Amino acid sequence: PKMTLCDILQERAQGYRNHCAISFYHQEITYGELAYLVETFASSLQKQGVKKGDRVAIMLPNCPQYVVSYYGILRVGAIVTQVNPMLVERELTYLLQDSGAETIIVYDALYPRVKAVQANTAVKQVIVVNLQPSSSSFAPDMTFEAFLGQGDGRVQPVAIDPEHDVAVLQYTGGTTGRSKGAMLTHRNLVANVMQCVEFFKDKIEYGAERYLTVIPLFHVFAMTSGMNLAIYVGATNILLPRFDLQEVLQTIKEKKPTSFPGVPTMYVAITNTPNVEQYGINSMKMCNSGSAPMPVELMREFERKTGGLVLEGYGLSEASPVTHCNPPFAERKPGTVGIGLPMTEYKIVDVATGTEELKPGELGELIIRGPQIMKGYWGKPEETAATLRDGWLYTGDLAKMDEDGYVMIVDRKKDMIITSGYNVYPREIEEVLYEHPAVKEAVVIGVPDDYRGETVKAVIVLKDGQTANEEEIIQHCRQNVASYKVPRIVEFRQELPKTNVGKILRRVLREEAAEAKQ
Ligand code: ATP
Repeated sequence: PKMTLCDILQERAQGYRNHCAISFYHQEITYGELAYLVETFASSLQKQGVKKGDRVAIMLPNCPQYVVSYYGILRVGAIVTQVNPMLVERELTYLLQDSGAETIIVYDALYPRVKAVQANTAVKQVIVVNLQPSSSSFAPDMTFEAFLGQGDGRVQPVAIDPEHDVAVLQYTGGTTGRSKGAMLTHRNLVANVMQCVEFFKDKIEYGAERYLTVIPLFHVFAMTSGMNLAIYVGATNILLPRFDLQEVLQTIKEKKPTSFPGVPTMYVAITNTPNVEQYGINSMKMCNSGSAPMPVELMREFERKTGGLVLEGYGLSEASPVTHCNPPFAERKPGTVGIGLPMTEYKIVDVATGTEELKPGELGELIIRGPQIMKGYWGKPEETAATLRDGWLYTGDLAKMDEDGYVMIVDRKKDMIITSGYNVYPREIEEVLYEHPAVKEAVVIGVPDDYRGETVKAVIVLKDGQTANEEEIIQHCRQNVASYKVPRIVEFRQELPKTNVGKILRRVLREEAAEAKQ
């Protein structure tokens, strides 16, 4: 596509001028107003000297200002640098240094954190969104409103080459080590939206959809499947800034969304709500799940209790992110992430050689090629060369494909456990644990063991009012998997550490286990 996301927004502002684009609590913003705010914000950026290629960081929860900032930055050819609001000072310093961002848009509660690190970064301008006006006793550099007030909506023309110009730096990480900024071009972003639209076309009615976006927009899943897709189809995007179970359910009841992109931990919470059928989830056309595996038993229970339809997909930051999904137009296969999106090529290759293509059913690394695949990692040529080879993205995920092209993600290469020389894939054991009636959430990790190298450990959260002890859990696993895969240690917890996208932080659990051993 030659178009950019901003061109698409302009078109929707023509076609759906008075249609609600964003619904945020009691606030409603039409497509006409959104496009106007974006032009105003873009002209303010130019007045402040922001030029094509400059990095502008956004560190906000879901709110209308997020969407305005994102499209405003793209409009002037600058690069949106996505920042997870959960980052602590050390991580924030790294990200700002790595990206070289000179401007950051942040919300009031995090303003002190940005000020604390500013001197060690290139940041010159801090723009503050007041989400809790009563608490803002400080004098911010510049409020979002004051910044908007500087603009006149007359944006100086900027030549954007969608194919090569970087639109977004999407930092990976949270679940693994050192963070890298995936460079997504304007074309990558538009391509991925169009691929999704083509794939889900049976479930899309232009100008009539209502998306509920509670997964955070700084994360690539929500960026495309929530924000950009909503704008492309002229939908009303119902934004919520955090996952508060009661608020989400109440919003579903009142605002009647037609689709909901979520992550498995959200589906766990919803499924375990008493009388969940009263919220009308069954009236939604689809509930997309991605970013982590959806245990088969959880999906069945969710559908049985709510009447909703789950379509599990797969993606990663480096692919803008969506590459696979269970189709609405053909067979769904629970436990798989479905088939490739249009124009997405994929194969399973031998992990050792990285080139030899494997046969259906054989386990190897999933590699992908298509218009949504990133340009590379920002400032990291070596990592780029290791990840992008001959135009193929090496995902680092171990997977199998069946005869029909459905992909089953077995595990991340780096999450595989090696115990006494045997390979154990946590996902397989987790599926079994979720089948136990008392288990609400489960995660399996490898912990250091002098004798076996690693030992299989399960960390479990039980359902409210249910009990189970270590012996029962181990017994349940023994009946279902070979003995070397059975967890030797079972720990019960009240909750699991998660990223604010809701992904379980295996790294944290592994680190705790390693520390406990020392
Ligand atoms: P990092 O990759 O650095 O750990 P991250 O988890 O934030 O960071 P993302 O790009 O958000 O990175 O996540 C992509 C990964 O999420 C995929 O490579 C895959 O391992 C996992 N994933 C996404 N969807 C699914 C799914 N449906 N089933 C299993 N795994 C999934």
